[in-house]
Amino acid sequence: MTTVVLMGPPGAGKGTHAELLAGRLGVPVISTGDIFRAQVAAGTDLGRTAQRYLDAGEYVPDEVTNAMVRERLDAGDCRPGFLLDGYPRTLDQAAVLDEVLAAQARSLVAVVVLQVDQEALVQRLLRRAEIEHRSDDTEEVIRRRLEVYAEQTVPLISLYGGRGLLREVDGNGEISEVRERVLHVACALTPAE
Ligand code: ADP
Repeated sequence: MTTVVLMGPPGAGKGTHAELLAGRLGVPVISTGDIFRAQVAAGTDLGRTAQRYLDAGEYVPDEVTNAMVRERLDAGDCRPGFLLDGYPRTLDQAAVLDEVLAAQARSLVAVVVLQVDQEALVQRLLRRAEIEHRSDDTEEVIRRRLEVYAEQTVPLISLYGGRGLLREVDGNGEISEVRERVLHVACALTPAE
């Protein structure tokens, strides 16, 4: 059973590399950002709650996010394991993930962190804004998302570092270069046949 977390600031390329990494590990990608956007598009109650946080670049409150993730990780397709993209992002979420994993009698195998220089992140997100028109890709909201990441999510790096789970990947450079580095990490995580 392979349970892995993929972490990194907005614009680091989590979404770009998640499928590849999950494919190599043989597990589904669970992306909280994608789930929230799908709920917004479907106009559900959860979507309506999430939208104002997404648009402001703030995290959706932990109790909302945690409840959604608990339910998702109980689904049948998560039995072989999962790659979490964008969760946990707060210490409270990390504690809930520990609980969920303990209840499933498993534990995290690794936390892969994509590291990218700050200015490169802003440039990437502004470029993406022109192409994808995501409502949270304006310069002001981008800067806020980076701040929130530094305040609330960076502390998780030492938490997982202390547990010996961190696998840091240099996310600077071309997508193809980063892909090679991600694959290298995936190989090290795949149990030998
Ligand atoms: P990015 O990593 O580029 O910010 P995501 O698609 O992962 O993009 O997330 C988009 C938004 O969804 C976040 O800014 C936040 O509002 C919300 N979100 C995603 N994951 C979480 C989470 N674990 N906790 C709270 N909010 C979240």
